[in-house]
Amino acid sequence: MANHLALPLTETDPEAAAIIRHEEDRQQNTLELIASENHVSLAVRTANASVFTNKYAEGYPGKRYYGGCVNMDVVEDLARERAKKLFNAAFVNVQPHSGAQANVAVYCAALKPGDTILSLDLAHGGHLTHGLKVNFSGAWFNIVPYGVEKETEQVSMDTVRKLALEHKPQLIICGASAYPRMIDFTAFAEIATECGARLMADIAHIAGLIAVGLHPTSIGIADFTTTTTHKTLRGPRGGMIFCNTEDDFKLINRWVFPGTQGGPLMHTITAKAVAFGEALRPDFKEYQQQIVNNAQALAEGLKSHGYRLVSGGTDNHLMLVDLRDVHPDLTGKQAEAWLEVAGIITNKNMIPFDERKPTQTSGLRLGTPALTTRGMKEAEMKAVAGLIHRALSAGDDEAATAKVRSDVLDLCGQFPLPHA
Ligand SMILES: *Cc1c(COP(=O)(O)O)cnc(C)c1O
Repeated sequence: MANHLALPLTETDPEAAAIIRHEEDRQQNTLELIASENHVSLAVRTANASVFTNKYAEGYPGKRYYGGCVNMDVVEDLARERAKKLFNAAFVNVQPHSGAQANVAVYCAALKPGDTILSLDLAHGGHLTHGLKVNFSGAWFNIVPYGVEKETEQVSMDTVRKLALEHKPQLIICGASAYPRMIDFTAFAEIATECGARLMADIAHIAGLIAVGLHPTSIGIADFTTTTTHKTLRGPRGGMIFCNTEDDFKLINRWVFPGTQGGPLMHTITAKAVAFGEALRPDFKEYQQQIVNNAQALAEGLKSHGYRLVSGGTDNHLMLVDLRDVHPDLTGKQAEAWLEVAGIITNKNMIPFDERKPTQTSGLRLGTPALTTRGMKEAEMKAVAGLIHRALSAGDDEAATAKVRSDVLDLCGQFPLPHA
């Protein structure tokens, strides 16, 4: 009798294998401009698919609830040591299953239900775990949002300070999902101290930039820093939490496990260790610098076609395109759909003070981490800006869109994924 447990996926489950192949083809043959996405290395994927997926390891290194954890302890310590070195951090918990899970643990550690959180408005670039009504954060806590200023479309620390002193939050959150400018962690920390709040920096998007010094760090400045590991950091899908003191470390550890999670995803923690190892190499700094250079080039390219960018440009890996100047009647939703037909993958996004609903929007969010991983540079970004403009101008014109699609395929063919 054939032992199907030892056969390759293509033989045991051709249906699932075909779906994976289709996704490999889609990733190879489209331009990935979603700011939160990336393509991991073969090494990260290998670790993520390793036998560590078989193991329960509830607890922490040296204090597990199950036997057989010798290699679990070694690999989790490796992930922790590399993360601490990469971010120059005192303490880290690498177990959160995701960025959202990391934030849940911090809120449990720092707050009681009904407490007040001051956080960036979702409509101005914040994240759903920072206070959306239908998320646990908005359901369990009193959310006071700060926004960007109408004039500059940037956060004003004077406004944040006024709101903080007025509402006396227990927790202030800085960090964003769609904010193209630098975040002043030091100013946030001063305000938190002044009003007696704790400070959480959520660096999910910009972790890679921070790791190499292209954005000022929050580590050692905010009480808690949460992040994902799969955006600019280019690791497996997951989260982690940094803190500065032994007391907070104990609290965070307790609230990750057993507070909000069960068994850690040890295969993911193994892949995190591998990704942090990659991020400690000198070429990771070059990669992050190229992400920023590419964002500058893409921004300039779009502006040359007449598009306005929220806040006038970008300091990091992403930008928000206001579609209204060039295409007054075009929603972000329609733009996203037309671009996808042409093979350009983006997401619709509210622009600050958007008059359209969140399901329609007047903007698009674009980021360069994934295209930069493929080896694209400034010249390609200029070309991508042109392709975006052509696809949006083509609209429903199928022949014109097909021409853009064909040029997108050409470009993708010149920059194969690290492992196809
Ligand atoms: C992406 C993101 C998260 C959530 O990450 P998940 O892994 O999707 O849960 C949290 N905070 C910010 C600011 C993000 O951009």
